[in-house]
Amino acid sequence: MQEMIIDKGKINDFINQIIPDHIVFAPVKNKDIILFKPIKKPDEMTLDYENSRIPPKSIYLPQTETLFRFSKDKNITLETPKKDERTLIFGIRPCDAKSLKILDQVFTGEHEDSLYLSKRKNSILVGLACHNPCLNCFCTSVNGSPTGTDGLDVLLTDIGDRYYVESITKKGEKIVKNFAGFKPANKEDKKKKEKVTKKAKDNIKRHIKSEKLVPILDSIFENKYWEEIARTCLGCGICTFLCPTCHCFDMQDEIVGDRGARIRVWDSCMYSEYTMQASGYNPRPNRMNRIRNRVFHKFNYFPKNNQVFGCVGCGRCITECPVNIDIIEIVNQAREVKKDE
Ligand code: SF4
Ligand code: SF4
Repeated sequence: MQEMIIDKGKINDFINQIIPDHIVFAPVKNKDIILFKPIKKPDEMTLDYENSRIPPKSIYLPQTETLFRFSKDKNITLETPKKDERTLIFGIRPCDAKSLKILDQVFTGEHEDSLYLSKRKNSILVGLACHNPCLNCFCTSVNGSPTGTDGLDVLLTDIGDRYYVESITKKGEKIVKNFAGFKPANKEDKKKKEKVTKKAKDNIKRHIKSEKLVPILDSIFENKYWEEIARTCLGCGICTFLCPTCHCFDMQDEIVGDRGARIRVWDSCMYSEYTMQASGYNPRPNRMNRIRNRVFHKFNYFPKNNQVFGCVGCGRCITECPVNIDIIEIVNQAREVKKDE
């Protein structure tokens, strides 16, 4: 791993050098919210932000995406991204970079998703460490860190008038090497970076007690607790749509005249139709079943199948839930639930 620094004033030159060969996505202010959008000039981005409302998973798994087109004469045209279309995400937070590694496990599992994987393969992730985590962040409870490098190619940490730069992968080393504005870091820079990391970790005030969570949840699968949790849930699906690790989709055919397209669209396990079977039977008929499934998926099924939590602690589902359902409280209170209730 290379450790360098860059003056903040040189970041725009770095982005300008990257833009001709890459589609650069960066945090952009859109009214009151931050979204990752393609930029043409560095001054379109804002680096003073907590996190984007929609996670950057949407770059690789868009909310709607055409898989292929077809026509009545039975000709099928497969629509795939151009092979040489390179992307760079600038300013992605460490939790969201980690979430993409989790999505990679899903999309390389039993069936490889070539559309998702071709986009992931051709992209570089330049992260920006959190120096001021959000109120509902709890990344440190799920093996993350505000300055974590998991899933990133390069990590920038704000140390005042400069960024401390860690190139984590070969791809990262290459883009850093190709720009003359990066200089070797010294001991003083490293100390500053460590200070920022400690302060950011200390600023995370919310925590999940994650020890032995898998067997604890197993023991209370059948419990009235889940009915209480579900009482106020509206079933709106916001918690899943905005979650960087949620990845479920549905497929629909849109047909106009004799031409059509098969489109995949985000789906949510919080909707009753999600598990509705053709016979009319629904194995998760009410909100209690669905909210329990969401919690189990993150903290029981995913760790059992993939050895990592299916949650990176970004806090979006808490911040954006219209009725304040709080996954930290749900999980921590689950530990106190008596098994036979
Ligand atoms: S965002 Fe809140 S209300 Fe909406 S489905 Fe999720 S838990 Fe229920
Ligand atoms: S479950 Fe909630 S806190 Fe965890 S990654 Fe998803 S949105 Fe973030």
